[in-house]
Amino acid sequence: MRSASRAARQNGQRLGFVPTMGALHEGHLSLVRAARASSDVVAASIFVNPTQFGPNEDLAKYPRSFEQDCQMLEREGVNFVFAPSVEEMYPAGAVTWVTVEELSSKLDGRSRPGHFRGVTTVVAKLFHIVEPDRAFFGQKDAAQVAVIRRMVRDLNLPVEIVVCPIVREPDGLAMSSRNAYLDPEQRKQALVLHRSLMRVQNIAEAGEQDAAKLNAAGRRTFAQENSVRLDYFEIVNPDTLDPVSDISEGALVAVAAYVGTTRLIDNLLLKPIPT
Ligand code: AMP
Repeated sequence: MRSASRAARQNGQRLGFVPTMGALHEGHLSLVRAARASSDVVAASIFVNPTQFGPNEDLAKYPRSFEQDCQMLEREGVNFVFAPSVEEMYPAGAVTWVTVEELSSKLDGRSRPGHFRGVTTVVAKLFHIVEPDRAFFGQKDAAQVAVIRRMVRDLNLPVEIVVCPIVREPDGLAMSSRNAYLDPEQRKQALVLHRSLMRVQNIAEAGEQDAAKLNAAGRRTFAQENSVRLDYFEIVNPDTLDPVSDISEGALVAVAAYVGTTRLIDNLLLKPIPT
């Protein structure tokens, strides 16, 4: 992978990189398209990273569709697919981690201890292997975006992070590889994540700036679907992930919830209100 990417860059080509865990859908492909539009050569990785899964999470059953993924990537014009084995990425005896302190224990990091340490470690390794000029991530994983941006800044990594909007199903459900776990009934129940975000957006657009009030309204909408268990519903600063008291300078509204045993996340970025 490294010699391929170095050869491309020696030819003066700019390399775009899209890291994924496979089981690809239109959300992933939107990143690939953004990468293609602004890079000469595009690499995607497919690696279900064990270190970002907790002991009771879905690592073993995480959907895997390698052949189909490769076909999709090829159709989208991806030049290289990097799909290392676990042993290759984590040789026996590896004990070095990349940890973004503080941010990594907020939002998903609070519910999933160790998750972001696994993410930052594997993404740092992938950046060193692929050496991309630009790397493309989805706004779908808003806390991940904050953590990776901070890592890149703090470690002076020579890569530009590009964040692409959330791709949704026609009814609003954010696309996710984990949606495959949902049965038809759960698939309907899962819409409450998006519905509660839309409620916040509507009230914010009507002029409400008080984060506590917006949060309460979102939670009330959420509570109407009592089969879905809320993990968090927070209104935070998108860079620090700390709660904000009002949304005048913009805010991230982030939700996570369990539909059955499937944990889903979604979010909404509120723009700063012009003064
Ligand atoms: P994953 O394979 O779940 O690790 O996701 C790989 C990349 O695709 C991450 O940067 C995700 O944020 C992004 N992604 C996943 N789902 C979506 C979506 N619905 N819209 C946009 N980006 C997404």
